[in-house]
Amino acid sequence: MRISRRGLLDTADLILMAVLAPTGVPYPQARLQGCPFLGEKGCQLPWRARPYACLHYVCGHLKRVMTLEEARAVDRALVKAGELRSQMVGAYTQGRSAK
Ligand code: SF4
Repeated sequence: MRISRRGLLDTADLILMAVLAPTGVPYPQARLQGCPFLGEKGCQLPWRARPYACLHYVCGHLKRVMTLEEARAVDRALVKAGELRSQMVGAYTQGRSAK
Protein backbone atom coordinates (compact mmCIF):
# COMPACT_ATOMS: atom_id res chain seq x y z
CA MET A 1 0.00 0.00 0.00
CA ARG A 2 1.33 3.43 -0.90
CA ILE A 3 1.31 5.91 1.99
CA SER A 4 2.90 8.88 0.39
CA ARG A 5 4.92 9.69 -2.71
CA ARG A 6 7.98 8.62 -0.74
CA GLY A 7 6.79 5.80 1.43
CA LEU A 8 5.03 2.51 1.39
CA LEU A 9 3.29 0.56 4.10
CA ASP A 10 5.41 -2.57 4.45
CA THR A 11 5.00 -5.87 6.27
CA ALA A 12 6.84 -4.57 9.33
CA ASP A 13 4.47 -1.60 9.47
CA LEU A 14 1.47 -3.96 9.41
CA ILE A 15 2.94 -6.13 12.19
CA LEU A 16 3.70 -3.13 14.38
CA MET A 17 0.31 -1.61 13.63
CA ALA A 18 -1.36 -4.80 14.85
CA VAL A 19 0.78 -4.87 18.00
CA LEU A 20 0.71 -1.17 18.85
CA ALA A 21 -2.93 -0.51 17.94
CA PRO A 22 -4.57 -3.77 19.04
CA THR A 23 -8.07 -2.30 18.91
CA GLY A 24 -7.60 -1.59 15.22
CA VAL A 25 -7.06 1.43 13.01
CA PRO A 26 -9.41 3.37 10.75
CA TYR A 27 -10.10 1.71 7.42
CA PRO A 28 -7.99 3.39 4.72
CA GLN A 29 -9.96 5.51 2.26
CA ALA A 30 -9.21 5.10 -1.43
CA ARG A 31 -7.95 8.41 -2.85
CA LEU A 32 -6.51 9.60 -6.10
CA GLN A 33 -4.17 11.89 -4.19
CA GLY A 34 -2.92 11.93 -0.65
CA CYS A 35 -2.62 9.30 1.99
CA PRO A 36 -5.57 6.96 2.59
CA PHE A 37 -5.27 7.64 6.34
CA LEU A 38 -5.37 11.43 6.04
CA GLY A 39 -8.57 12.82 7.53
CA GLU A 40 -9.96 16.32 8.00
CA LYS A 41 -8.04 16.66 11.27
CA GLY A 42 -4.81 15.14 10.02
CA CYS A 43 -3.54 11.61 10.34
CA GLN A 44 -6.16 9.23 11.68
CA LEU A 45 -3.63 6.67 12.89
CA PRO A 46 -2.37 6.68 16.48
CA TRP A 47 1.15 8.06 16.20
CA ARG A 48 2.75 4.90 17.59
CA ALA A 49 1.14 2.83 14.85
CA ARG A 50 2.04 5.11 11.95
CA PRO A 51 4.20 3.71 9.15
CA TYR A 52 7.92 4.01 9.69
CA ALA A 53 8.20 6.20 6.59
CA CYS A 54 5.97 8.75 8.34
CA LEU A 55 7.60 8.59 11.77
CA HIS A 56 11.15 9.07 10.59
CA TYR A 57 10.46 11.74 7.99
CA VAL A 58 12.12 15.07 8.82
CA CYS A 59 10.69 17.78 6.62
CA GLY A 60 12.74 20.57 5.09
CA HIS A 61 11.26 23.18 7.42
CA LEU A 62 12.23 21.20 10.51
CA LYS A 63 15.72 20.66 9.11
CA ARG A 64 16.10 24.41 8.59
CA VAL A 65 15.11 25.36 12.15
CA MET A 66 17.16 22.70 13.97
CA THR A 67 20.66 23.38 15.15
CA LEU A 68 23.41 21.07 13.95
CA GLU A 69 23.49 19.38 17.34
CA GLU A 70 19.71 18.91 17.34
CA ALA A 71 19.88 17.46 13.81
CA ARG A 72 22.57 15.03 14.93
CA ALA A 73 20.52 14.02 17.97
CA VAL A 74 17.52 13.39 15.72
CA ASP A 75 19.68 11.30 13.38
CA ARG A 76 20.97 9.22 16.30
CA ALA A 77 17.46 8.75 17.65
CA LEU A 78 16.18 7.66 14.24
CA VAL A 79 18.98 5.11 13.88
CA LYS A 80 18.10 3.75 17.34
CA ALA A 81 14.40 3.69 16.47
CA GLY A 82 15.18 1.76 13.30
CA GLU A 83 17.21 -0.80 15.27
CA LEU A 84 14.44 -1.22 17.85
CA ARG A 85 11.87 -1.57 15.10
CA SER A 86 13.92 -4.36 13.52
CA GLN A 87 14.26 -6.09 16.90
CA MET A 88 10.53 -5.88 17.55
CA VAL A 89 9.64 -7.31 14.16
CA GLY A 90 12.28 -10.03 14.55
CA ALA A 91 10.93 -11.00 17.97
CA TYR A 92 7.39 -11.07 16.62
CA THR A 93 8.24 -13.23 13.61
CA GLN A 94 10.37 -15.61 15.72
CA GLY A 95 7.55 -15.96 18.20
CA ARG A 96 5.07 -16.65 15.42
CA SER A 97 7.29 -19.29 13.81
CA ALA A 98 7.95 -21.00 17.16
CA LYS A 99 4.24 -21.83 17.59
S1 SF4 B 1 1.36 10.53 8.88
FE1 SF4 B 1 -0.62 9.49 8.62
S2 SF4 B 1 -1.69 10.71 7.06
FE2 SF4 B 1 0.47 11.29 6.95
S3 SF4 B 1 1.31 9.96 5.34
FE3 SF4 B 1 1.64 8.95 7.35
S4 SF4 B 1 -0.14 7.58 7.62
FE4 SF4 B 1 -0.64 9.06 6.02
